[in-house]
Amino acid sequence: MADILNDSAVKNSPSVVSNKAIPNSPVSVSKGSSTSTPLLNGSLGGFGYTLNWSDFSKKEEKEPDKPVAAAYTYTTYSSYKYSYVPIKGSKPVQFQLSGNLFIKLTLNKEKSFVKSWIFQKTQQFQDDLLHHEQGHYNITSLVVRDFLEDVILLRYATFATAQDSISAVNQIEQQSLKKIQSINDLYDNEIHPEQISGQSRGPKQKEWDSYLNIAFNQNRTDGAKSSDGTPCKMRLVDVLSLNGKLI
Ligand SMILES: [Zn+2]
Repeated sequence: MADILNDSAVKNSPSVVSNKAIPNSPVSVSKGSSTSTPLLNGSLGGFGYTLNWSDFSKKEEKEPDKPVAAAYTYTTYSSYKYSYVPIKGSKPVQFQLSGNLFIKLTLNKEKSFVKSWIFQKTQQFQDDLLHHEQGHYNITSLVVRDFLEDVILLRYATFATAQDSISAVNQIEQQSLKKIQSINDLYDNEIHPEQISGQSRGPKQKEWDSYLNIAFNQNRTDGAKSSDGTPCKMRLVDVLSLNGKLI
């Protein structure tokens, strides 16, 4: 999972405590069972971090006469662990998710770079480029947040088998973490043409800024709440899909 296809990449595949095989069968999840007490918590490090050029390795280079990558943002997130436990007194035995999921976002300084020639350009150009790179970091941050929120929403769920609990997490992963690369690719595919045409913060960049802003600030309409009682924010994939971008 460490393939780098563009200027943002994620690595460290998440791991599950169990080594059991994951079945392909559909998962039956029953929410809100009164028999289970939540045993699942989560937290996210590095969320909302503001990038500086000092976070990037500086590559000495003269300004080229054709468009090339001027900067590259490589964001990683740490692996996480969770487990499942049988619910006391359940007959037949049922399972629930358990654990303290902690995920840390990191900008990898060795692999993230900025070309030295950009510092000969205007302050506005430098700021706009950093703003674009911040967008990459924010995309990864938001999707990791969404993954964590959705897994934590399973804190009251009961599962008929232990494998079902793992499958439920894997399904969320497919809808979130596995899409990070594609979302970053789409961000670049839409914005790079206007950057090449000389607009360092053009209409496409502003459009994406608004998607990210919604995912940061707007509550979900279903009233879902995090374990601390605060409303879950809209998933970035949902904001994109509402705007016709199917990832
Ligand atoms: Zn980019």
